[in-house]
Amino acid sequence: MGQSRESKEEFASRFAHYSRYLGQFNRAIDAVLNGCVKMHVFSPSGRVIYTVVGRGGEEFIDPFKPFCSCKNFFFGVLGGRNQTCYHLLSYEVAKESERFDKISLHDEEFESFTELLVHDLTDKEDRGT
Ligand SMILES: [Zn+2]
Repeated sequence: MGQSRESKEEFASRFAHYSRYLGQFNRAIDAVLNGCVKMHVFSPSGRVIYTVVGRGGEEFIDPFKPFCSCKNFFFGVLGGRNQTCYHLLSYEVAKESERFDKISLHDEEFESFTELLVHDLTDKEDRGT
């Protein structure tokens, strides 16, 4: 553990304004510190896709909708029990701390990349119903 690096507590304290999301806050901090929030930048179009790698696999997030492909978002947020899921909260924390794990991809890879995500999503829906 390097001394120069900000401790988890120090880092988390900067995002205390999100600590009201009790269930999600710690996991979001961990995800950001572990580089789990991925920013996939496609060139030359400049398209950006965000994913968060969690315990259950990689989740696709669209922070502008907002949308997350995880079960917690589907049942908890759309069901009205939670305001957000920890993946979307991770995005907010990563954005404010500029700690995205940036991955550069070529536009030619866009299709196979999204196909993979879509496949993942349909797979989950099948299991959910
Ligand atoms: Zn989620």
